Amino acid sequence: MFLKSGMQSKLPRVGTTIFTKMSKLAEEHQAINLAQGFPEFDCAPELQVLVDKYVRSGKNQYAPMAGVMALREAISQKIFTSSSHEYHPESEITITSGATEALFVAISTVVQRGDEVIVFEPAYDSYVPAIELNGGIPVFVTLDPQYETIDWNVVASKISPQTRAILVNTPHNPTGNVWKASDLQHLAALAEENGLFVISDEVYEHIVFDGRQHISASSIPGLAERTFACGSFGKTFHTTGWKLGYCLAPAKLTAEFRKIHQYVVFSVVTPIQFAVAEHLAEPEHYLKLSEFYERKRNLFFDAINDIGFITRPSEGSFFQNVSYANLSPENDRTLSERLTIETGVASIPVSAFYDNITDFKTLRFCFAKNDDTLLRAAEALHKVVW
Ligand code: PMP
Ligand code: GLN
Repeated sequence: MFLKSGMQSKLPRVGTTIFTKMSKLAEEHQAINLAQGFPEFDCAPELQVLVDKYVRSGKNQYAPMAGVMALREAISQKIFTSSSHEYHPESEITITSGATEALFVAISTVVQRGDEVIVFEPAYDSYVPAIELNGGIPVFVTLDPQYETIDWNVVASKISPQTRAILVNTPHNPTGNVWKASDLQHLAALAEENGLFVISDEVYEHIVFDGRQHISASSIPGLAERTFACGSFGKTFHTTGWKLGYCLAPAKLTAEFRKIHQYVVFSVVTPIQFAVAEHLAEPEHYLKLSEFYERKRNLFFDAINDIGFITRPSEGSFFQNVSYANLSPENDRTLSERLTIETGVASIPVSAFYDNITDFKTLRFCFAKNDDTLLRAAEALHKVVW
């Protein structure tokens, strides 16, 4: 068909995501997939029973636009217990199609044409396209994949009169860093001083190691009132395929958020919302997750420790970054492909999380896998010819 105006891409720099690409390559070569971040194990049997119960009892039509009330109430209760901040289920909590939709809608809610948004990179891949589709301009604070501290003076220097929002992610994908209380204090001060919205990606909130605590932006005075806090049950209950997430924000912000959410998806999967609401009533179901993943982090880290990577144990999330700069001069995209094909272990090249930097000589491995899978991957990595 002849298109009069031609097809002009709204995202000319975007291709298929690196996660899709590396999972496909892993499948083609039957490699162990430590690339795309998803658990190899199933969700709790009792959660499956609950989904079955609600499907069979007819909870199969549209949920309310903002989400099933029982789930919003359960989230409100959970947040109040962990951070003493009260989010009103009626007006301040919206159930979304994964954190991806929550982030996309939050960005669309605040970003106007020409607005600048501060983005820390390495950054999860959905942030920048969402900013750009709304006519916004990402302004990057570039961190090393092995960074230990954030220089908040550098962050402050990136703020201009055009800055509308700042996007943060802790625990962080892909570095595995967990922000300290002082980082949240700096963020609060900067956001207040400059009147910024904060979009906080907290999908790994229940995966923090070595006694660390996840500090939610929703728990900090001065921050909660300007923050869209986005979460996901995909990580917490090993159910990435359910795409169930949420956004917490003060009533005024939520009202605007919902105007967009209702036309993106209207509402999300009903029986699963009921099931997750009931499953949340037992805090054990998510409070044991850190311990579960810390053991896997240790297993994988110890198993690759003598290969010679430059690395330190991940602080949170289910990702472990390693630098191979002292082992090989190869580009990280080339190396991750070679390792998938020749070694049978797929990873993600960390340069894919940067705007302009093409090689950080760092790979990201996902350790949300069975112990045996992790040990087989580590064994194969010992055989790599660098
Ligand atoms: N943010 C980060 C940092 C993620 O790693 C992911 C997914 N892995 C998401 C957001 C998206 O979450 P969901 O699958 O719930 O859309
Ligand atoms: N968040 C997952 C990761 O970082 C992937 C999600 C996706 O495939 N879009 O690996």
